Amino acid sequence: MKSLLAEHNKLAIAAEQIEILQHGQPGGFALVPFQQKLEETGLYPLNPTNIETFQVNVGKMCNQVCKHCHVDAGPDRKEIMTKETMQQCLEALKNNPSLKTVDLTGGAPEMNPDFRWFAEEIKKLNRHIIVRCNLTIILANKKYHNLPQFYKQHNIEVVSSLPFYTQDRTDRQRGNGVFEDSIKALQMLNEIGYGKDGTGLILNLVFNPAGAFLPPSQHALEIEYKHALMEKYGIGFNNLYAITNLPISRFLDYLLQTGNYEKYMEKLVDAYNPIAAQNVMCRNTISVGWDGSLYDCDFNQMLELKLACSSNHISQFNIESLNKRNIVIGQHCYGCTAGAGSSCGGAVT
Ligand code: SF4
Ligand code: SF4
Repeated sequence: MKSLLAEHNKLAIAAEQIEILQHGQPGGFALVPFQQKLEETGLYPLNPTNIETFQVNVGKMCNQVCKHCHVDAGPDRKEIMTKETMQQCLEALKNNPSLKTVDLTGGAPEMNPDFRWFAEEIKKLNRHIIVRCNLTIILANKKYHNLPQFYKQHNIEVVSSLPFYTQDRTDRQRGNGVFEDSIKALQMLNEIGYGKDGTGLILNLVFNPAGAFLPPSQHALEIEYKHALMEKYGIGFNNLYAITNLPISRFLDYLLQTGNYEKYMEKLVDAYNPIAAQNVMCRNTISVGWDGSLYDCDFNQMLELKLACSSNHISQFNIESLNKRNIVIGQHCYGCTAGAGSSCGGAVT
């Protein structure tokens, strides 16, 4: 009964968020529909180019509760991918060699009890793995202390959010003590070769704005981060990804509560960039939810926007149909197409 109620609430929140995104707040303003923007720039309907990245959300449980989390993740979330669903993911990978990269995300993906087994099985299939590691998980419990060695052993690329290179801004967004633990974890990763030239062990960091504004130039920010982190903490890394906050979930709540919603959406619409729209990540990525449902992207997943394709669950994975589908779009997509664009790999132009 309790879980039915939770499911109902979750769907109601997603529906309410879509309503606000499509029609604005009651009595509020109307935005140019994203579909219209795509039509004006010859990009509608939006179709995949070729699916190469298989992004798997292995659960919404997380040791952190970040202010702008689009997954609404936290320690109380119970949604965890089962081993059976993981087996179905492995089957899909086995049958589809064009899926070259597996991007493991969450929550904190490492909190799924079968995370390591899953990563090892993916490696046996000879795929490149990216893990979205929040860094603090490495120090959260003794059982996670050797995660850096595990990543190294399997040559897993680590992508970690570090909202800024100072304590106050990072802790404000991610919680007290997060910056200090993130620095310690980054040093542990550096010690075994991550982020160092010639090791092949990739460590990328993610910046996202602390408020209702677009990220600055990714390149300029990377130089700034590299200088600050090396000088103060001796930390090196490969690339910085600057990501735009999409107006969904906790960030949408924040925009509404602070009265910044309209201003932010106008900023995104004004900054619409057709080149970014051409390169949005949903064109080459498929997103697998914790229960095996398939989505165009992690954001559509959080809004419960189901895929417009008969192959909409991992158990019926069919890459030919998926490559022919129309991508489900909404007003939140403006977050991916503003300025230099935004994706799980940072700017897209
Ligand atoms: S670490 Fe990531 S998944 Fe966890 S709450 Fe923060 S943003 Fe969400
Ligand atoms: S929000 Fe998802 S569907 Fe929309 S443009 Fe971005 S990646 Fe594509």
